[in-house]
Amino acid sequence: MREDAKRLMTKISRRTFIRGAAAVGLLAMLPVARGCAKRCHAKVNVAIIGGGAAGLSMAARLARRLPNATLTLIDPADKQFYQPGFTLIGAGVYKPDVVWKNQSDCIPDGVKWIKQAVVALDPTKKEIRTGDGGRLTYDFLVLTPGLQLNWSQIQGISLDTLGEGNAHSIYDFNGAQKTFPAMMSFIEKGGRALFTDTYTKLKCGGAPKKICLLTEHQARMRKRRDAVKIDYFTASKQLYDVPHYTPRLEEIYQERKVNISLRMRLTGVDTQAKKAFFEKTTVSQKQIPDPASGTMKTVEESATQEVIESYDFLHFTPPQSAPDFVREAGLGWRSGKLAREAWVEVDKETLVHAVYPSIIALGDVAGIPTSKTSAAIRKQVPIAVENLIALIEGKTPEVKYDGYAACPIVTDYGHVILCEFDYDKKPKTSFPFTLMDTRKELWSAWLLKVYFLKPFYFYGMIKGHV
Ligand SMILES: Cc1cc2nc3c(=O)[nH]c(=O)nc-3n(C[C@H](O)[C@H](O)[C@H](O)COP(=O)(O)OP(=O)(O)OC[C@H]3O[C@@H](n4cnc5c(N)ncnc54)[C@H](O)[C@@H]3O)c2cc1C
Repeated sequence: MREDAKRLMTKISRRTFIRGAAAVGLLAMLPVARGCAKRCHAKVNVAIIGGGAAGLSMAARLARRLPNATLTLIDPADKQFYQPGFTLIGAGVYKPDVVWKNQSDCIPDGVKWIKQAVVALDPTKKEIRTGDGGRLTYDFLVLTPGLQLNWSQIQGISLDTLGEGNAHSIYDFNGAQKTFPAMMSFIEKGGRALFTDTYTKLKCGGAPKKICLLTEHQARMRKRRDAVKIDYFTASKQLYDVPHYTPRLEEIYQERKVNISLRMRLTGVDTQAKKAFFEKTTVSQKQIPDPASGTMKTVEESATQEVIESYDFLHFTPPQSAPDFVREAGLGWRSGKLAREAWVEVDKETLVHAVYPSIIALGDVAGIPTSKTSAAIRKQVPIAVENLIALIEGKTPEVKYDGYAACPIVTDYGHVILCEFDYDKKPKTSFPFTLMDTRKELWSAWLLKVYFLKPFYFYGMIKGHV
């Protein structure tokens, strides 16, 4: 951690900070508390598939708002993970045990839990099939199973062998635990570290950048920066696509001599030889005649080639999609950019399914053009609750989501760029950060990230309070 951060930490004790943060949290709760008053007494059967950030938050609020409903949550998981903590485990800031709770302690009172995976869904019959052969029907469905990490789409990699050949990923709880010791031993030995993202939409697009920058800072803190070369390979055409934050982020990479390679998609890893295989896309512009105008017009042409890179330490991001049962149920987008990974076709403002109005989908599975983060889900939940109740009452869902998402990009041990934005990629800063220059890295945002957001998640968000 930086010296100035350390000094400030001693001036403001952790307890004082948490008290202040709790006060901010309470302020944030006020509008929600006002909205909680109206109950709907319909005797209705609501199923919730997936009890993660989105499903549990929905369940907690619906349990209060629908006192006569039968609420059934289907989820096979024993543990509830605070996934943003995986980055901090990978960086050695959190101990693994602080990021999870037993799922049984997280399911709200009044909600029946079926501890099974959904294997099939028939939205026309409103019928769900579970792994143990069980069947259940619903009147309304909250679809929140998160996303599927497709490890096997990277040749040479599997979840079971994660970590072999020093190929690591914080996208898995065990993977995050292996990352930190491997990062430290890499720094001690020296060599080349490669960091990649992926070509699909991904949860927390900032996570691969965070672990990259934290590795770089860790090397500096250990006075080993000269012994390591650090490269960041992104499948995108730019490092980050929210213009308010991109320039400073690019500057940081430049200042810290982390090379960025664009349009590089990881396709495979030879863990024995420590080689990473990429598909590199090159885009060129070409002039062609435009019969409509009779003039020439510019079109883009792209070509791909295989590139092989050696590494000593690799951090990669698996390709991601909607879970298979969602695709098989035909709930994904039927056309456009969100169709390939079967992200659920919902109205981006109301979150109601385009074809099946008895289904509302939110969280990572939703096919909406914003970042897949729990910060986004916190804003989606109150909207989804209101719109679901409107549907139950036979009214038109009218409450609209503006695409708010947040991603705290940790830039070193002590600083974070707190990226908050909406569907138009315009900054949408939360109080008290409106008082600061959020384009830059902030120590206060680091405190928020490390000390405040985890209890906020477990005791506020998934309890349906914030
Ligand atoms: C490394 C990392 C860093 C992150 N950093 C941040 C961050 O800094 N800030 C931030 O806001 N967000 C961050 N996120 C993203 C955030 O954790 C997710 O966006 C959020 O958890 C998604 O919530 P969800 O409810 O949609 O899915 P999840 O929380 O993943 O929950 C899905 C639930 O559905 C269940 N499920 C899956 N399949 C089935 C099935 N077939 N049947 C029944 N149940 C099923 C699962 O068991 C799980 O309980 C990060 C994520 C990762 C991995």
